[in-house]
Amino acid sequence: MSQKILAINAGSSSLKFKLYDMPEEVVLVSGLVDRISHEDAVFTYKIGGHDDKHETVQPVKDHTAAVQLVIDALLGSGLIKDKSEIIGVGHRVSHGGRYYTKSVEIDDDVAEKIDELSVLSPLHNPVNLLGIQAFEKLLPDAKEVAVFDTSFHSTMPRKAFMYALPYKYYTEDGVRRYGFHGQSHQYIYGEATRLLGEQATSKLISCHLGNGASICAIKDGKSVNTSMGFTPLAGLVMGTRSGDVDPEVLPFLEEKHHLNSEDVRSMLNHDSGLKGLSDVSNDVRDVLDAESQGNDRAKLALEVYVHQIQEYIGSYTTDLEGLTTLVFTAGVGEHSAPIRQRVCERLGYLGVKIDDAKNQANEVEIEADDSRVKVMVIPTDEELIIARDTQKIVG
Ligand code: ADP
Repeated sequence: MSQKILAINAGSSSLKFKLYDMPEEVVLVSGLVDRISHEDAVFTYKIGGHDDKHETVQPVKDHTAAVQLVIDALLGSGLIKDKSEIIGVGHRVSHGGRYYTKSVEIDDDVAEKIDELSVLSPLHNPVNLLGIQAFEKLLPDAKEVAVFDTSFHSTMPRKAFMYALPYKYYTEDGVRRYGFHGQSHQYIYGEATRLLGEQATSKLISCHLGNGASICAIKDGKSVNTSMGFTPLAGLVMGTRSGDVDPEVLPFLEEKHHLNSEDVRSMLNHDSGLKGLSDVSNDVRDVLDAESQGNDRAKLALEVYVHQIQEYIGSYTTDLEGLTTLVFTAGVGEHSAPIRQRVCERLGYLGVKIDDAKNQANEVEIEADDSRVKVMVIPTDEELIIARDTQKIVG
């Protein structure tokens, strides 16, 4: 029997949703409420199978108002006749800490733990919780499920997730690498394997290059290492996030410029990465444009960005003891042929060789005929993983 499941990805000022018919995995409606808490919030949605987008601009006070808008649109579309038809709501939740290695039905205890884990993911867990509370209020009959970014990485061996800090900070405070973007990396492995078979994807590196970015080494379907860490700040150069820096830089800057830890945290999360290096933009397209007009800082930013990706790929081939498949996904990975080309151009030593025409055309398989490694471009679908897990739990 088909069941209606909502997949929710709540950000600080946005709420993305997809309504699925499960287990058929048909998207009935997808949409976004953007600029929540502004007078000119934008609500867009699309009915599955139709090209036309509905768009309205209106004040949206908070996440509860955004959820009300979504529910009204679903009822208005005629795709559901009553709210009670939605049996489950799956929420992307950033941090599951040491508590959750799998998705879980949300009750008071789970909500408390998500709240408690806000110290580890201050930008995401609190807003994920706002989404959860809004649905609890407006869809009281639906069961809610938390699908954690961190769960997929719970298979990492301890040698990969431990930091070499005094051990008590691990046991008492949970300081370790957790990793994020789990739904995306899990989806990428599943899709690559569906297309190529398990043998061909036994040593896979998934490069999720969006505004946030992370790389994951996946051995026989299990995450064995990933570039984000205790928080989603670590690892690659991102749109506005720094990725890895020598930790000693932070007290140095704090002391020299009389900054407090909140100033430094904000600088690392919002003013660094491509934006900080280039002073152009956090968007790869803008930085590429500026570079083509001779902007050397844009060129530098892209050099560092690509170099960091190459370093991680190189190091993860050691975790995997080889490489069968390299996959690019998310905004940059799916759409930017020049970035994929630059990343791959120094990976010949691993047997990676791409076909320029296939790369330019964003084909699914972009490796050259004589490449020893499969190189793929796969659009990610985090919501589908959320919907699958939710249906498994509440269906
Ligand atoms: P998020 O991490 O916020 O989910 P996305 O995965 O949608 O974001 O990625 C957004 C980023 O993708 C943009 O900031 C932009 O840098 C990049 N992007 C999107 N399309 C292109 C493109 N055609 N070329 C280069 N970069 C692109």
